Amino acid sequence: MKTPSVSRYETMSYRRCGKSGLKLPMISLGLWHNFGYVNVFENSKKLIAAAFDQGITHFDLANNYGPPPGSAEGVFGKILKADFKSYRDEMVISTKAGYTMWEGPYGDWGSKKYLVSSLDQSLKRMGLDYVDIFYHHRPDPQTPLEETMATLDLMVRQGKALYVGLSNYSAEQTAAAVQILKQLGTPCLIHQVKYSMFERKAEQGLLEVLDREGVGCIAFSPLAQGVLTDRYLHGIPADSRVATSGVFLKESDITKAKIEKVRKLHGIAEARGQKLAQMALSWLLKDERLTSVLIGASKEEQINDAVNAIAHTTFKEDEIQEIEHILSAP
Ligand code: NDP
Repeated sequence: MKTPSVSRYETMSYRRCGKSGLKLPMISLGLWHNFGYVNVFENSKKLIAAAFDQGITHFDLANNYGPPPGSAEGVFGKILKADFKSYRDEMVISTKAGYTMWEGPYGDWGSKKYLVSSLDQSLKRMGLDYVDIFYHHRPDPQTPLEETMATLDLMVRQGKALYVGLSNYSAEQTAAAVQILKQLGTPCLIHQVKYSMFERKAEQGLLEVLDREGVGCIAFSPLAQGVLTDRYLHGIPADSRVATSGVFLKESDITKAKIEKVRKLHGIAEARGQKLAQMALSWLLKDERLTSVLIGASKEEQINDAVNAIAHTTFKEDEIQEIEHILSAP
C-alpha cells in the first residue's frame, strides 16, 4: 500500500461549492477515459496517486465509464481498496446515471427504476457504502422531472449519496429542477457542464441560474478533450485520445481552422509563462462562479500541469481581448 504525500494539501486551493458546506479542489479528476479494463491498470493507479498527492480530492465517475461500461468504477474500486482504504473521508467521489447502461427499458434515462438500480450497482463496483455526489447525467424528455428529482432526494435520505447534482441540463431545465429539489429539502449541490474556450454555451444563462440559486459549477472537458493543449500542434500523436480511442474525439475534429486558433492561443499562453493546457484551465477559473475544472489525464505530467495552473488565474484586459478575438474567428 502506497502512503500519500504528507504535503498533499500544500499547493491545492479549494472553493466552496455554491452555497453548500462542501469545498472542492479547483482541479478535479475525471475517470471517463484511461480507467477502463482496456487500459493499463498500473497507469490508472499512478494517476489517482499523482492526483491525490497534490490535493485533488475529487474523483468523478459515471456508471457507463470504461470501456466496457462499468469498468472505470470497477478499476477505481480496486485502487481504493488497495491504496486508499483509510483515506475515504478525504475524498469526494461522484458518479452518475442517465445514459444507456443496460438493455431494456430500465437501463437508461431518468426513471426511479433505473436510477435506484444503477446507483446500487455503482456502489457495488466501487466497494463503497455511499457516494458523495450522485448526478442525473442528462435530462430525460419523457420522465416527469418530479420523479427524477424525487429519486435524487430518496438516495440522499437512504444514505446512498450525500449530495446530488445535475449534468447537461439547460438553464431552464436546471432552474425547474433546482426548485423541485429545494421543495423536497435536498438542495442541488452542483451542475456539471461542458465548458471550455471552445464550448461556451454555459455563458448563455446557465451560469447566472447557478449563481442566483447558490449551486456550484464544475466544468467538464475544460481542455476540449486535449485539443486546447499542445497535443495536436504537430499532427496526431500515437498515444493521443484521437489515436487510441477516436470515439468521442475523432481525427475529423482536429480541423485546420481549430489548430490555427490553438497555435495562436499557445502564443498567448507562452507570453504568460504558461502551457496552453494551463492557460485554458486558468481562463475558466478566473470566474469565481466555477467551483472546479474537471480534467482528464492519460499521464502524470498532465495532472502536474493542471495543478500548476491554479497559481496564475488572473488575466490582463488585453490578454482577455486577444483571446476573445482568436476565439471569435470563423
Ligand atoms: P479534458 O478536456 O481535460 O481532456 C483530457 C485529455 O486531454 C487527457 O486525457 C489528455 O488526452 C489531454 N491532456 C490533459 N492534460 C494535458 C496536458 N497538460 N497536455 C497535453 N494534453 C493534455 O477532459 P475530458 O474530456 O477527459 O473530461 C474530463 C472529465 O469530465 C471526464 O473524465 C468525466 O469525469 C467528465 N465528463 C463528463 C461528461 C458529462 O456528460 N457529465 C461528459 C464528458 C466528460 P491524451 O489522451 O491525448 O493524452
